[in-house]
Amino acid sequence: MSQSKRLRIAIQKSGRLSKESQQLLKSCGVKFNVNEQRLIAHADNMPIDLLRVRDDDIPGLVMDGVVDLGIIGENVLEEEQIERQLAGKPAECTKLRELDFGSCRLSLAVPNEFEYKDANSLEGLRIATSYPNLLRRFMQEKGINYSDCMLKGSVEVAPRAGLSDGICDLVSTGATLEANGLYETEVIYRSMACIIQSNKTQSTEKQALINKILSRINGVIRARE
Ligand code: ATP
Ligand code: ZN
Repeated sequence: MSQSKRLRIAIQKSGRLSKESQQLLKSCGVKFNVNEQRLIAHADNMPIDLLRVRDDDIPGLVMDGVVDLGIIGENVLEEEQIERQLAGKPAECTKLRELDFGSCRLSLAVPNEFEYKDANSLEGLRIATSYPNLLRRFMQEKGINYSDCMLKGSVEVAPRAGLSDGICDLVSTGATLEANGLYETEVIYRSMACIIQSNKTQSTEKQALINKILSRINGVIRARE
């Protein structure tokens, strides 16, 4: 099952990266139609299968060698890498290149009434986040003690709901923070979408196809610059 002759590429099923991931592959000449109900979309003109999954599942699928390539936010990749290293699971893959979409930053934010001087102002606070590993790395580097409040969604409402003192969440324009009476104090990670490859040995044919796709991606992105 896991040794498919066709190249497997995991992309986000639905969310902020889906449209642009599909568009990028189409611009590279991969012809496919997505059926919203289906996990897999087969390309008509190349031996490629697209796996449409939750973005959080993509790094693990690539690191375990279940799929050959994945398109994912660097934030999710890095978070999963730290998580897997701690758990002693395979955590290696190769980042082929950064892409030209999915730009965002992982930032710390606190309520408007909070008086923030520097990162030390966070000492002893409870911080809500979906990225506990990236948050811990930043706080350890700064030598700040804090507590976690792990939330997969609705992170931005946690302070108002009395669940946390601050948050560590993805920001692009800052409009969501503002709407929730929060302001950004520290950027802890800057992210773009990227394309990653499994470190599992590839057949010569698959590697040749990967090289072809990558060289087309380079061309597409150069043309859009
Ligand atoms: P899924 O259902 O696949 O788990 P999700 O809700 O976790 O989706 P999205 O909100 O679709 O994820 O975001 C996917 C990725 O898009 C993020 O991990 C990040 O890399 C990127 N991104 C770009 N801008 C933003 C933003 N403003 N907020 C959140 N993510 C953003
Ligand atoms: Zn997700």
